[in-house]
Amino acid sequence: MTVWDDLVGQADAVAPLRKAVEQSQAMTHAWLVTGPPGSGRSVAGRAFAAALQCVQGGCGDCHACVTALSGAHADVTVLATEKVTIGIDEVRDLIATAQTSPSEGRWRVMLVEDADRMTERTSNLLLKSIEEPPARTVWVLCAPSAEDVMVTIRSRARHVSLRVPDPEDVAQLLVDRDGVDPVVARECAYAAQSHIGVARRLARDADARARRAQVLALATEIRGVGDAVLAAADLVKVAEEDAAAATEERNVEERNELLRMLGADDGGRLPPALRSQVKQLEEDQKRRATRHKRDVFDRAIVDLLSLYRDVSCVQVGAEVPLVNESHRGHIEKLAERTTLADTMRCLDALALTRERLAGNVAPLLALEAMALALRPRTAA
Ligand SMILES: [Zn+2]
Repeated sequence: MTVWDDLVGQADAVAPLRKAVEQSQAMTHAWLVTGPPGSGRSVAGRAFAAALQCVQGGCGDCHACVTALSGAHADVTVLATEKVTIGIDEVRDLIATAQTSPSEGRWRVMLVEDADRMTERTSNLLLKSIEEPPARTVWVLCAPSAEDVMVTIRSRARHVSLRVPDPEDVAQLLVDRDGVDPVVARECAYAAQSHIGVARRLARDADARARRAQVLALATEIRGVGDAVLAAADLVKVAEEDAAAATEERNVEERNELLRMLGADDGGRLPPALRSQVKQLEEDQKRRATRHKRDVFDRAIVDLLSLYRDVSCVQVGAEVPLVNESHRGHIEKLAERTTLADTMRCLDALALTRERLAGNVAPLLALEAMALALRPRTAA
């Protein structure tokens, strides 16, 4: 076992990282790891960080490997944001840390998991640090694609790109590592379109599979305007519940922790001087919930896109595996009662909805318009 084992089907991307670990002359002070969501960018970043700290180059078992992978290693700093943008203060802190020598490991590794979430001003600040790094500091920036990072940063970093893994490889990973039943693993790997994190969540969580099926049903069950409006409202409700489940408990914990730190946990009134800190935390938490809801909507649209893609495959008679094999019955019915032109119109409507949501249109409005557009036009 090594730290690279979780990177399924990524041999081309792993090779230069391994080489840099093994031969110090192949080392570069800044790396840019790109790949589509779920391909394992942050997994690659953490594996690289561990391999750099491990005396055996990434055995996966020693203290250095284990702590680097979990983010607890003293010389590995991980910035993983749940906000829509990375704050400039967070980057200032990172840069200060980057200037110090490693305390126990061979390298000081600075891993930024969502480098695409930096504003230009923040990127410029980071650029200065990347241009003149201390001898033992390595920056690892992760982003969906090279274009998501400022060109000045891109040009100073070595680029490693991950590809979409084969769904069969993802299924095998779920079986081997998570002990998932092979049939469920395969269904989830295809349904998640090789997004490893999503596939794993689907495989482990029957509720998540049920929610996905509910989203796909939008395509086949909407007949009238009333159905469409209700379906959109349902989708918003599902996203809100999902966001609440994922964040509420943590929000309370964080608030209690902050109050304790400020010495104001005795239930009394908060002194005015401390209120701004609590307010700041609440704002961060609100942003986190917003990002989570956005992710849920985006996932729903990706799922629907996959369904209409399957419908179009059936309509043109393409001999390819369906993403939603377990919904084949519905897909064939829909393919029969609509035309390829209808399917293309639905795909366009979904793409437009995605743009609208990214552009901050109120989700309910965008989703209502989407649900209306998905109504079959051809008589049933
Ligand atoms: Zn090790």
